Amino acid sequence: MAFTLPDLPFAKDALGDHMSAETLEYHHGKHHKAYVDKTNGMLGEDLEGANLTTVIKRAKEAGNQGLFNNAAQIWNHSFFWLGLAPEGSTKPSDKLQAMIDSDFGSTDKLLEALQTESANHFASGWGWLILNNGKLEVTSLHDADSPVAHGMTPLFTVDVWEHAYYIDYRNARPDYLKSVLHNIVNWDFVSHNLDGQGVSRADQLG
Ligand code: MN
Repeated sequence: MAFTLPDLPFAKDALGDHMSAETLEYHHGKHHKAYVDKTNGMLGEDLEGANLTTVIKRAKEAGNQGLFNNAAQIWNHSFFWLGLAPEGSTKPSDKLQAMIDSDFGSTDKLLEALQTESANHFASGWGWLILNNGKLEVTSLHDADSPVAHGMTPLFTVDVWEHAYYIDYRNARPDYLKSVLHNIVNWDFVSHNLDGQGVSRADQLG
């Protein structure tokens, strides 16, 4: 069974200037697709029919860095798209808001922490909001690395590879982060991830 490129969960122009249709055309249509194609080309018979999470974990155990990188990038991107939504269309659930207020003080403070972590992440990688022992935490992982490989519970991610922002923001990673984090986070998805519903949706997309 080959993996397929999932459709974007919104129209290409739905995110406005925060993330342009041209960026999505390249980022989803070319970069994300290339990870799918490369993964399919590398899958051995032993992993035929395995789901994406299994492929990621098995590739890591086997030290197959090429397969790990490409499979993890499929998962990370599928999860990333699900975490975005048109401006103003979603808000945190009461449960999530209470956790944000308790663990960070306010939504602005949480976004500031995610912005700082992601802006300062050296070179390529991903900024993550995760759930750790019942508490919200901000972290970042390098290159293709994914919470799936570490048994973390991811709630939201932002891609900080240059290809994520170079068309719309050129080299200005902080401007990209500010625009995305303050305007197009899919808080419904983040809220659902507290119960594992969003994450399992991303797993199925692979
Ligand atoms: Mn990317």
